[in-house]
Amino acid sequence: MFTIDAHLDLSMNALEWNRDLTLSVKEINAREEGLTDKPDRGNATVSLPALREASIGMVVATQIARYVAPGNPLPGWHSPEQAWAQTQGQLAWYEAMQEKGEMIQIRDRESLEAHISLWQNGESQEKRPIGYMLSLEGADSIINLSYLEKSYEKGLRALGPAHYGPGRYAQGTDASGPLGPKGRDLLKEMERLNIILDATHLCDESFWEALDHFNGPVWASHNNCRALVNHNRQFSDEQLKELINRGAVIGGALDAWMMVPNWIKGVSMPREMNCDLEKVIDHMDHICQIAGNARHIGIGTDLDGAYGREQSPYDLETIADISRIPGMLEKRGYGEEDIRLVMHGNWLRFLRKAWSV
Ligand SMILES: [Zn+2]
Repeated sequence: MFTIDAHLDLSMNALEWNRDLTLSVKEINAREEGLTDKPDRGNATVSLPALREASIGMVVATQIARYVAPGNPLPGWHSPEQAWAQTQGQLAWYEAMQEKGEMIQIRDRESLEAHISLWQNGESQEKRPIGYMLSLEGADSIINLSYLEKSYEKGLRALGPAHYGPGRYAQGTDASGPLGPKGRDLLKEMERLNIILDATHLCDESFWEALDHFNGPVWASHNNCRALVNHNRQFSDEQLKELINRGAVIGGALDAWMMVPNWIKGVSMPREMNCDLEKVIDHMDHICQIAGNARHIGIGTDLDGAYGREQSPYDLETIADISRIPGMLEKRGYGEEDIRLVMHGNWLRFLRKAWSV
C-alpha cells in the first residue's frame, strides 16, 4: 500500500553517517563493519531501495543542525552560520538525489498530485523516485528570519522550532521554558509563508505557547504517547486533545525508548524489552481512542534517526517491514478505509488542505 513516512533524517545519514542511501541496507551495513565512531554503526535500517520495497513513496525529509552555546553538552555547531551551512549541504544532497532520479521534491499541490498519480499509475516500482517534502528539525540554523524565506524558496514546507535541549527559538525535549519574542516572531513568519508547524520536540511550555500563537497548520511528525511511556518527549493526553482539535496528524515513531517503558539508552536491547513493531500500534490506537476516529494518526518512523537496529523494534530488519503495519491494524479491528488513512490518507488530506490556499 502506498505509504507516507513523515519523518526521516535521510540527508543527515548521507552526510554525517557517510551512508550512500542509494545502496541496499545490507550494503550500507557491510561498509560499516569495524566502525565504532557511532553507536549504531552496522545497524542501519533505511535506504532508498528499502523505501521502494515497502511502497513508501513519499517522505518528509529533514534538514537538521543544532547550535550549541558554550556549556551545552549536546552535539552541535558553535554558530548559527555553521548550522545553516550544514543544512545547505543536506539540501545539496537531496538535490543531487533528484538529479539522479532517486528522489523528487514535493512543495505544492501540483507536485503532490503529480507524484501521487505517478505512484498509483506508474510502471515498475524500481523506477519511481521517492517524493520528499523538506522539514527543518530545530530552527537554530535560521540565522535570522530572512533565512526562513530563503529556505521556503528552496522547498521548506514544515518546521519544528526545537529539537533536543535549549534552542534559539524554542525549548525542546529535556529542556524547559517558553518561546519568548524570537520564537513568536518565527511563528508569525511561518504563518505568513504557510509553513507547517511541527509540534514534535517542543517542551510543554513552548508547546502550549506555540499553539496559542500560531494560526497555521499544525502536525506532529514523529511522536508517541506519554500515557504509555512517561517522558517529556511524548505527548500528554491534553496535548493530544489539543492537536486533534487543531486537525493535526501525529506520526507514530519507531524509536524503541519511546515505544516501551523503562528503556535505558545504550543498555536496554529491543528483544529483552519486548519491543516489537506491534508496540507502535498501541500508541497510535491510544490517539484514536481519544479522537474517536482514525483521522489523526500516521506513520513517522524516525528510523535511523541517530540510532539503528539496537534501538528499533526487534522484528524490524529494514524500514520495508513497516509494510506489516496494515495487517497489524486489521487485527486490531481497523477497517480498510481507516488503514488507508493511516498509511497515507491522513497526511495527504492534511497537505491538500494546508496547500489549498
Ligand atoms: Zn526527532
